[in-house]
Amino acid sequence: AGADGAQTDKFAVLCLDLDRFKAVNDRLGHPVGDALLKAVADRVRAIVRPSDTVARLGGDEFAIIASDPNQPDGAATMARELIEALGRPFQVEAYNVDVGVSVGVAISPDDGTDPDQLFKNADRALYRAKNEGRNTVRFFEAAMDTAARRRQSLETDLRQALPRGEFQLHYQPVVTAATGRISGFEALLRWVHPTEGMISPAEFIPIAEDLRLIVPIGEWVLREACREAMSWPAHTTVAVNVSAVQFQSGGLTQTVLSALSTSGLPARRLEIEITETVLLEDTDKVSHTLNILRSLGVRVALDDFGTGYSSLSYFRMFPFDKVKIDQSFIRDMIENPQARAIIRSVIGLGQGLGMPVVAEGVETAEQLEALRAEGCDQVQGYWISRPGPIAHFEGVVMDRGGESGMVRKRAGQA
Ligand code: C2E
Ligand code: MG
Ligand code: MG
Repeated sequence: AGADGAQTDKFAVLCLDLDRFKAVNDRLGHPVGDALLKAVADRVRAIVRPSDTVARLGGDEFAIIASDPNQPDGAATMARELIEALGRPFQVEAYNVDVGVSVGVAISPDDGTDPDQLFKNADRALYRAKNEGRNTVRFFEAAMDTAARRRQSLETDLRQALPRGEFQLHYQPVVTAATGRISGFEALLRWVHPTEGMISPAEFIPIAEDLRLIVPIGEWVLREACREAMSWPAHTTVAVNVSAVQFQSGGLTQTVLSALSTSGLPARRLEIEITETVLLEDTDKVSHTLNILRSLGVRVALDDFGTGYSSLSYFRMFPFDKVKIDQSFIRDMIENPQARAIIRSVIGLGQGLGMPVVAEGVETAEQLEALRAEGCDQVQGYWISRPGPIAHFEGVVMDRGGESGMVRKRAGQA
């Protein structure tokens, strides 16, 4: 393409977003922020050609329309120069300020011919650049468009999913390692999309969180899980995952109380699973909510421990009833002595704090044996049972005598 003189139609749109600008504004004040923006504009102007257009889109965002028909090379060179120039420290008033810039590029006519499309695509590329680290440039790719479209349509459909009754809960048994007896089930949310079928929570929960839809959805999960657990033996618990957004929304305690009283489930049979992202937010508010829940008798488990910061201070902040070691450690524990040592130390920590430890993602008999040997309290994973609709476990859950609550292996497993 472009061999027939269409070259002259080529130009590039660059979208720029300063890195760390908000921190400068917050720490040094708006006058310094404004002066910095002027200094940035000067350096940008020194790089572009006279025939180019530079605009400030607002905040710390700028756009350049680069007239150079030699694209994408021209934009690549310009982006490199911009990153270099804006990466050098700025002297603003008495301060030495370090920012940086992320750049997204779309080329006309390849990435669009109308201005709206070009800006949108440059912006998508910018979004990607920011996600991949500071001081980076990304060119628009059709795949980004596909990803953005999918996200857009999932957002639209997700808003309808609750009223349309498209959610289900699957349950995965949690068993006592020493005996194999079921101590409870974790409720795992499933979205049966009308055309795409089952969509993984790993994909739709982050979207539901962004849109704050996780608040009503999470409420539905709590009610449904408590209602379901009422038909299980009295010694079993039900674990429900709760996101940080649900804590921020403020109504969580009320929602939990209401789910318990409507279902009649005793509070001690409900376990809330939180990840550390909950603890990274407004710590005082979160501990306050957790303490109220705990005083009601609800148990609180720390999920996915070992990923992220995994600070030991979490255990001083709040007396967790349980800690779940992330499945990545279990996956590696047989081949990797480091993973096994970490599991061992978390189990030791749990013993020291009087806090049961659960291993997630147990997929082989060997892992289960090793976890028993390490003294892990509870296990959960495909080797014991995959999550499934509660009907799959009817026989197991209801059966209380002798071998009661033993999870039998699925057909085909040794
Ligand atoms: P999680 O809470 O850590 O749940 C464990 C995940 O590991 C589940 O994935 C489960 O199906 C999967 N899993 C269990 N055993 C094994 C195994 O042996 N091997 C492997 N490879 N995976 C195993 P799932 O159901 O896709 O859920 C993913 C995540 O989505 C959950 O991680 C949880 O963070 C979130 N989630 C699920 N349901 C809810 C919900 O109702 N509310 C909120 N806020 N988050 C939820
Ligand atoms: Mg969980
Ligand atoms: Mg987990």
